[in-house]
Amino acid sequence: MDKALRRPVIAGNWKMNNTPSQAKALIEEMKPLVAGADCDVVLCVPYIDLYAAMEAAEGSNIKIGAENVHWAEKGAFTGEVSAQMLKEAGVPYVIIGHSERRQYFGETDVTVRNRVRAALDAGLKIILCVGEVLSERKLGITSEVVCAQTEIALAGVKAEELKNIIIAYEPVWAIGTGETATPEQANEVCKIIRDLIARLYGKDEADRFIIQYGGSMNDANAAELLAQYDVDGGLIGGASLKADKFAAIVKAASV
Ligand code: PEP
Repeated sequence: MDKALRRPVIAGNWKMNNTPSQAKALIEEMKPLVAGADCDVVLCVPYIDLYAAMEAAEGSNIKIGAENVHWAEKGAFTGEVSAQMLKEAGVPYVIIGHSERRQYFGETDVTVRNRVRAALDAGLKIILCVGEVLSERKLGITSEVVCAQTEIALAGVKAEELKNIIIAYEPVWAIGTGETATPEQANEVCKIIRDLIARLYGKDEADRFIIQYGGSMNDANAAELLAQYDVDGGLIGGASLKADKFAAIVKAASV
């Protein structure tokens, strides 16, 4: 299948940055810069910013997402937000399994899978993050780690639900460090993930499946990373906090 038939998705992950008024101002600044992009544009923002962000993005090509979601429908889970709450609030996207959740908040492959199930059942679109830490890359087990994370997260997911899932391959050693994977490294692991999807769901599904790279992608390195055959977009942390840098990445994906 021609890579050009997969529409790239450029998604920002603001992490714990921007108050509601700052979110509004940044999206107002971004809107004209990304208008008419030939890729999907998503900004995942802190829960408290969701309403302000959606209001600011209304009528534009920017879609808004949350950065996490709980797996339970409701109940005694202080501080958590359910998939149904996001759905009713009109939030279309959610990031699940980001390495910072895995590293600092006890996220496991099993809780990632539970969140994926809840988000799919609520009709949300998921950006599912997988990736190896540096010691795993040095041990030569990147493929095993990424495949295990992916396979567990997708356990029980039906082929017809795959259209609501994007996988972001994010080598943990490249997130927020300024150290980007080389285009070849990024493509190699994105291809490993696509081959796994083919084994699990068939080649046609794998050919259509969107796989992003994430990890210090910026305006200077985006074009080369996004040109790789198996890289269909990017999940962008730091560079999504600056309108001009984020817009340059969106432009690089739109060729
Ligand atoms: C991320 O938060 O998913 C990310 C890739 O961050 P950064 O672009 O800052 O490395």
